[in-house]
Amino acid sequence: MFELLKTDAHTKARLGRLTTAHGVIDTPTFMPVGTQGTVKALDPRELREMGTQIILGNTYHLNLRPGLDIIRAAGGLHQFINWPAPILTDSGGFQVFSLAKIRKIKPHGVEFRSHLDGSLLFLGPKEAMEIQRALGSDIAMVFDDCPPHTSTPREVRAAVERTIHWARECREQPRAPGQLVFGIVQGGSDAALREECAKAIVPMQFDGYAIGGVSVGEPESEMMKAVELAEPFLPADQPRYAMGLGTPAQLVEMVARGVDMFDCVLPTRVARNGTAFTRKGTVIIKAGFNKADFRPMEENCDCFACRHFTRAYLRHLLNVNEILGIRMLSVHNSHLFLKVMADVRTALAAGNFPEFRREFVANYVPSRKVLSTRKKETER
Ligand SMILES: [Zn+2]
Repeated sequence: MFELLKTDAHTKARLGRLTTAHGVIDTPTFMPVGTQGTVKALDPRELREMGTQIILGNTYHLNLRPGLDIIRAAGGLHQFINWPAPILTDSGGFQVFSLAKIRKIKPHGVEFRSHLDGSLLFLGPKEAMEIQRALGSDIAMVFDDCPPHTSTPREVRAAVERTIHWARECREQPRAPGQLVFGIVQGGSDAALREECAKAIVPMQFDGYAIGGVSVGEPESEMMKAVELAEPFLPADQPRYAMGLGTPAQLVEMVARGVDMFDCVLPTRVARNGTAFTRKGTVIIKAGFNKADFRPMEENCDCFACRHFTRAYLRHLLNVNEILGIRMLSVHNSHLFLKVMADVRTALAAGNFPEFRREFVANYVPSRKVLSTRKKETER
């Protein structure tokens, strides 16, 4: 199922291949986020053309709208959204804790009010696995408790205990045919809790392991620390997934720390704000300085948007609220994240990942504005 093809001699970076019911995923991989059953502003053909091998879907949102009866009647999520390749579904735990206004934590899940109409709902390990079984995702995530960055040590401990307990319950639930299930390690930036959580979750023998609680408003140093604390306790022969991250340079840094899979709403979210990612950092395409700039968003980028349109034209589209502007920025940004991961894989195969990493991170100038956008993420 997961083949570890190569481990970098100087870092913890790994080259791998994950086989799922709907296809093979080359790792390290970036997974575009399709929260509501679509990667915002992009269609499946565009996603395939830019090299997408797997997308995300979301249990919480898809269960509320359109609802499971519709997706079941369509023949599952792949059929419903016409995406024949692999899908990973988030369990909904993150949304229950970040979106639902009123919630009551119970032994077997969370009672909460829908963020849409206030109706009373319940989501726990059993429900989350049942929904993911009906969606028919290739990779299902366990239902976990993901506490915010501002939680007290006591709250983080309680979340770890709940996460362990709920992982065990998830493990016992039936799955869709061929469905893989990933466990999640919580524990914030507390070394002992990360270790304790990993040591409880790994013996449950999931198909892969996620490092959770790493996109909850913490500074970058703590995000890296959380990954470094959990990684040594994860089995080398199974895939590791850092949930909800990050900028292109952060992804490269996390690959160096032994992570294989990433998802992030940043490429499409900042596109909607009129901002493009490049290998040197972000560029505000909407800004006045692009008014008469007839270069592409990024020189040498072979995405559809950069091959066909100039910054000046895209700026104009964004300025007059034409949908094509947002679509083309979404195409470019998503393409860039996927291309960076493809370049990482090439560097790993060629044995020059440390040089690639050094150069990439040195060239990439992070933007404070984009980093603060990440903090508001709730829709993973
Ligand atoms: Zn481009």
